[in-house]
Amino acid sequence: MIEIKDLHKSYKMGSNSLHVLKGINFNVEEGELVAIMGSSGSGKSTLLNILGMLDGADSGEYYLDGVPIKDLSEKKAAQYRNKFLGFVFQSFNLINYKSALENVALPLYYQKVGRRERQDKALNYLDRVGLKEWATHLPSELSGGQKQRVAIARAMAAEPKVLLADEPTGALDSKTSYEVMDLIQKINDDGNTILVVTHEKDIAHMCKRIVHLRDGVIVEDTKIEQVRAQEYV
Ligand code: ADP
Ligand code: MG
Repeated sequence: MIEIKDLHKSYKMGSNSLHVLKGINFNVEEGELVAIMGSSGSGKSTLLNILGMLDGADSGEYYLDGVPIKDLSEKKAAQYRNKFLGFVFQSFNLINYKSALENVALPLYYQKVGRRERQDKALNYLDRVGLKEWATHLPSELSGGQKQRVAIARAMAAEPKVLLADEPTGALDSKTSYEVMDLIQKINDDGNTILVVTHEKDIAHMCKRIVHLRDGVIVEDTKIEQVRAQEYV
């Protein structure tokens, strides 16, 4: 599903340059649930942003579902992003003046899905994250965990090939974090490919594989016995 070869990325700042990704190699198969772990500043978000086509690499190869991702126009990148990828962020990134239902329906609008089908699909995905009763509520009326579940429903409603989550539990307390991971595990049980960036060990162990980044290189990449979040919720 994802193939990455010798990926490099530097940030230029004036005459200085910060080499953040120093030759990343890894593949992700369909149906995997991968944690990208590493301390703050190790390059996790940089890597995820490149995988998500939100930023470009300086060199190296990236294939997403067999498609080479390189030198894409803004328009093409946006098309691929909408078609292939779902995003979940630490800060939820919901639109404050739109209801939970409208937030979930928004990516479908960009996919030019008709109004009626948008509503039906969005409600169905809200139901799948256990928030059907909250459809008409604004984000400000929801708890942190509920907001993240809306964000997950929004990401999944567009039926992406890969779900990319950057510290999805970073703004949540432990119990709520485990509830969100329980949902992520269930979505993965359905066969969806998911990458979760985290610096928390317990969260990483709820995935099926841990890729450990340190100073811009992968220092460890291991399949693990998945801890079910359900045991903690
Ligand atoms: P992580 O997500 O693991 O905390 P990041 O990928 O966000 O790490 O950042 C890696 C390094 O790159 C950090 O030193 C950070 O300060 C730097 N960095 C991140 N984004 C930028 C940017 N847009 N411009 C300059 N430096 C950046
Ligand atoms: Mg980060």
